[in-house]
Amino acid sequence: MSDADAVIRRNLTAIRQRIADAAAASGRTADSVTLVAVTKYVDAETARRLSVAGCGELGESRPQELWRKAAALADSPVRWHLIGHLQTNKLRRTLPLVGLMHSIDSLRLLDEIERVAAELDLCVPALIEVNISGESAKHGFAPDEVGAALRQAATLEHVQIRGLMGMSGREHDLDEARRAFARLRHLRDQLRGDLPERVSLDELSMGMSDDFEAAIAEGATLVRIGTLLYEGLET
Ligand SMILES: *Cc1c(COP(=O)(O)O)cnc(C)c1O
Repeated sequence: MSDADAVIRRNLTAIRQRIADAAAASGRTADSVTLVAVTKYVDAETARRLSVAGCGELGESRPQELWRKAAALADSPVRWHLIGHLQTNKLRRTLPLVGLMHSIDSLRLLDEIERVAAELDLCVPALIEVNISGESAKHGFAPDEVGAALRQAATLEHVQIRGLMGMSGREHDLDEARRAFARLRHLRDQLRGDLPERVSLDELSMGMSDDFEAAIAEGATLVRIGTLLYEGLET
């Protein structure tokens, strides 16, 4: 085992322990939270180390990077998560590779996914991205637009909405991050009261290296972690 393998395994073990502790603190089981290992900072070789170490849920924010790594790891049991913005001209190549699309951020993208997925005879599991930080630079639906997006999604046969995704602001303020995650959870609970058929909101994708424990406290079922995984790795 190389040093890099050992570093990845150690980081993975430490993160899984923190996830389990955070879940337990909220009366949840560790397996109610899925770790999505974000590979955008590293090459395919390092992504493979994650897979070999037992982490089979990998996330990329850029479609081209996802294509490249998915090809390099085609022989590995990896489920790919697209966690960043997807331009419609990249749908055809991206959709067949993606196990969960976290970042549906417009009605147009929703409709285009439906059109292309129908042509490819796929059903795409996806999350609606919500702008919970209020930062205008962030992608995602405003909270008061999500209900309409769900009603639209309910009419589509080749997209299956499973939940919501959100990001805290960039200001490293843990209290504010937790309030943003609480807003996403409340929105989800509110929308659940009148959910269109075929739509489910079981998944909440929120929390990154700096704030995943706060996200788990607020009900995250998917945490997207990059930086922490690579700490101590020589690059
Ligand atoms: C990069 C990224 C992450 C991981 O962030 P870290 O702070 O490195 O853990 C999570 N989600 C999204 C959408 C990202 O772009």
